[in-house]
Amino acid sequence: MTSRVQKQTAHRLKKQRKAATRTKKKKQAKSRAVMRTKRSTQPCCGLCGAATNLTKTECCDQWICDDEHQYVLFSYDRNSCSRNHRRYTLCGFHSCEEHSGRWQDCAQCREEIETEMYVYYGTNEYNFEVLENPPAYEPTHCSACGREIVLADGGYSSSADSYLCGSCTAAKHPDLYR
Ligand SMILES: [Zn+2]
Ligand SMILES: [Zn+2]
Ligand SMILES: [Zn+2]
Ligand SMILES: [Zn+2]
Repeated sequence: MTSRVQKQTAHRLKKQRKAATRTKKKKQAKSRAVMRTKRSTQPCCGLCGAATNLTKTECCDQWICDDEHQYVLFSYDRNSCSRNHRRYTLCGFHSCEEHSGRWQDCAQCREEIETEMYVYYGTNEYNFEVLENPPAYEPTHCSACGREIVLADGGYSSSADSYLCGSCTAAKHPDLYR
């Protein structure tokens, strides 16, 4: 009789011990998960992922490479995350022009920037958040030879409402390229 009770108690104890190890394991897994999230919330540049030498953008308070000094004046290089975001996005433009409200629904931005560039500024890789439902636009064509001009790529000239591709600009203004 007594031995049976002892057996039962022993069995129960075993069960309890097992349960204890299980919760312990769970706890360990939990703390590992916490460590993992901690590591991933370490600030890094929202554009290129670099984790050192960071600053926050003035326009939208996001972590970004503090690399503006790397930019060589008039080189038009796209090697600076900070500069790219400030100069080539609606977010940067909107903030530099001191518009009010959000750039995503700013009528002034939409009005002041030609649609093709508006879409480029709103959707390129220098954005932390891209423009949803960008407006449709007609591609731009050279008014002399009819070739399509991608405004974002540059290398064209424009006057009033007409555009000239690079080669037509060079043909028209040979003095500029001498
Ligand atoms: Zn970066
Ligand atoms: Zn911004
Ligand atoms: Zn704006
Ligand atoms: Zn042309």
